[in-house]
Amino acid sequence: MSHDALQLLLVEDNRADAYLLRKLLVQETQIQLTHCEDLRAALHSLDQHCFDAILLDLSLPDSSGLETVKAIQQANPETPILVLTGLDDEAVAIAALREGAQDYLPKGELQRSWLIRAIHYAIERQQNLDQLQHLNQELVRSNQELEQFAYVVSHDLQQPLQVVLGFAGIIDALYGDRPDEPIHQYVGDIINASKHMSRLIRDLLHYSRINSAPKPVECVDCEAVLDQVLLDLQPAIHRTQATITTDPLPTIYGNETQLGQLFQNLLSNAIKYQPAGQRPRIHISAVQKQGEWIFGVQDNGIGIAAADAHSIFQIFHRLHTREEYPGTGIGLATCKKIVDRHQGQIWVESEPHQGTTFFFTLPQIPIQG
Ligand code: ADP
Repeated sequence: MSHDALQLLLVEDNRADAYLLRKLLVQETQIQLTHCEDLRAALHSLDQHCFDAILLDLSLPDSSGLETVKAIQQANPETPILVLTGLDDEAVAIAALREGAQDYLPKGELQRSWLIRAIHYAIERQQNLDQLQHLNQELVRSNQELEQFAYVVSHDLQQPLQVVLGFAGIIDALYGDRPDEPIHQYVGDIINASKHMSRLIRDLLHYSRINSAPKPVECVDCEAVLDQVLLDLQPAIHRTQATITTDPLPTIYGNETQLGQLFQNLLSNAIKYQPAGQRPRIHISAVQKQGEWIFGVQDNGIGIAAADAHSIFQIFHRLHTREEYPGTGIGLATCKKIVDRHQGQIWVESEPHQGTTFFFTLPQIPIQG
């Protein structure tokens, strides 16, 4: 908002205080002051005019304390509020800041120069805050659009891919009795590439759906989640003769499907990233600390160099070729997005050639918002 003169609304029922403030402020020609003595009049004034800032006494005849700040803020969220307090009202003043007031001014200490400065600072801060909030909303919106785009594209790609796979299978069957023909090799390559693309699309679909899934607030028994994951991983566990041990796991608040995906990705990596011929030994731990659970998935595999400890959580970032270890590079990015959504943290500790432990935290109490 830009005016030649600063438009201020003073809400103060104490005549002496109002007189003092008016006297300090009107020496300043660049200020126009409107004065109200109660909340009702102030709300009416805010309805009729635009102000650059509001000087607000909290104890009014028709409202008191934080209720006054809330009412004014609700009516006019974009105008900065400077709360006028008594000298011993610091606790209330700080509570008012938490409610969104920009500053507080102890009445007994008012001096003209810093009063003007405080008002200008409050206006600047409020403008920056509004801009930040606006940019944040834009960011959230564009992220949602991107996720929706990834979802639609990956969903629509599945169907033509199934057609390719279907016909490749038919050609493969036609040449089944002539394995030496080069076409047999070509079709094999088409089938392998299509299967990889299908896995990529499936993983991308999971990734893009994380933030639109139901809020992570249900009561989830991690033991039951793990049982299901171990059942799904049975073929890989059997093939590699992996041993998997676990601490007793807690019940926490989260999204059950996503926590299943999290365990599934970490465990399948722990089974996969092993030296050729080695039997995977994996342990799942859960430790309670300062209001959260710290989970660990520890393996005896190939390990990760310290330099790669952060980049592996980026989407499509892989440390090996597909020939060495198959994969899409989406698993850990998905894990990170799931843990972020549960307001937790995920990190890795590893010793190359010795093994790796992935840690993640989950809240003990339902998360907010
Ligand atoms: P993918 O396994 O499909 O390649 P991820 O996002 O799950 O994708 O993992 C990213 C990279 O992190 C992997 O390519 C691998 O190099 C490394 N990695 C993940 N888990 C482990 C592990 N338990 N041990 C060693 N390296 C791992």
